[in-house]
Amino acid sequence: MNILVVEDEPKLAEVLRTYLEAAGYAVRWVDDGLRVMDVVAEWAPDLVLLDLMLPGRDGLDVCRDIRAKTRIPVIMVTARTEEIDRLLGLELGADDYICKPYSPREVVARVRAVLRRFEAPAPAATSASGLVIQADAWQASLDGVALDLTPVEFRLLALLASQPGRIFTRDQVLDGLYDDHRVVTDRTVDSHVKNLRRKLAEVRPDDDLIRSVYGVGYRLDLPVGAS
Ligand code: CA
Repeated sequence: MNILVVEDEPKLAEVLRTYLEAAGYAVRWVDDGLRVMDVVAEWAPDLVLLDLMLPGRDGLDVCRDIRAKTRIPVIMVTARTEEIDRLLGLELGADDYICKPYSPREVVARVRAVLRRFEAPAPAATSASGLVIQADAWQASLDGVALDLTPVEFRLLALLASQPGRIFTRDQVLDGLYDDHRVVTDRTVDSHVKNLRRKLAEVRPDDDLIRSVYGVGYRLDLPVGAS
């Protein structure tokens, strides 16, 4: 699998390359924000490890571009922990984050975890009630209308749909979405739910498919049968 490392500090990039290659990944390194999209288009990496502070174009803009054009998972790397909610939230939809300073071993573990999550999403489910989740294709539709979901929104929907009617607490949702959510707050979950709910309502304005259970969490009010 191909990992694109975007990092402007050559020493850090070299360490990451060494560890990732030792773990069996093919690695390319880009040291400024302007060239990332070209390499993404040409090389089609399986995952992008994206530093936040970059010359040329900062990681936030680059992440937004990757999200707008591809479904490639993005792990943001940042020393600014106060940014993390934003990184993972609606604005950017990064898939995970790593705080600097990090251990290269931790980075490799995180890369592996995110890729595993992408390779083995929830089993496909279809429904007489109109919701279809094609886990292998990362696509979902409601009443025949394709939903344009970020990867995090897709996982959220797949999680809730795995047991319709069950209440998932915010902690359970966080566990389902991220491997390490020490710094992610409830607000992040709420904002993803809000966005997902809005997208479902665009198709079915009269139904509130995702119910908030006050003080507890969320549930999907839609029977989904396994196909
Ligand atoms: Ca940097």
